[in-house]
Amino acid sequence: MKTAIKCNCGQRVLAKDVMQTGYYLRLIGPSFVYVKYRCPRCKKLGEQFVKQEEWEDGILHDIPSEVKPEEKAIFEQMGKIDIHECIDAHFELEKMESLCDLINITEEAKK
Ligand SMILES: [Zn+2]
Repeated sequence: MKTAIKCNCGQRVLAKDVMQTGYYLRLIGPSFVYVKYRCPRCKKLGEQFVKQEEWEDGILHDIPSEVKPEEKAIFEQMGKIDIHECIDAHFELEKMESLCDLINITEEAKK
């Protein structure tokens, strides 16, 4: 599960809500990342410590992106998959099925 910082009211805290961050280093035990924030919903100030090993880049961002920037550009160029492309894909699959049948028939004939 992705770690997220949440206010007591349940609102997720994002980068824009963060006022201060810092490291809380300890000699023994895990180190923590300190985050001070103002909740965008209830407007309360809060602070939270996140274990350093649980801290990740996506923690303060809405959607952790798994798509590389160059891939994103390609996908945006392609646009949405439209109904015609769906139909084409369907027919391609049907063709493949009949090809398999054809192979099976020819295999049967060899016996
Ligand atoms: Zn809140």
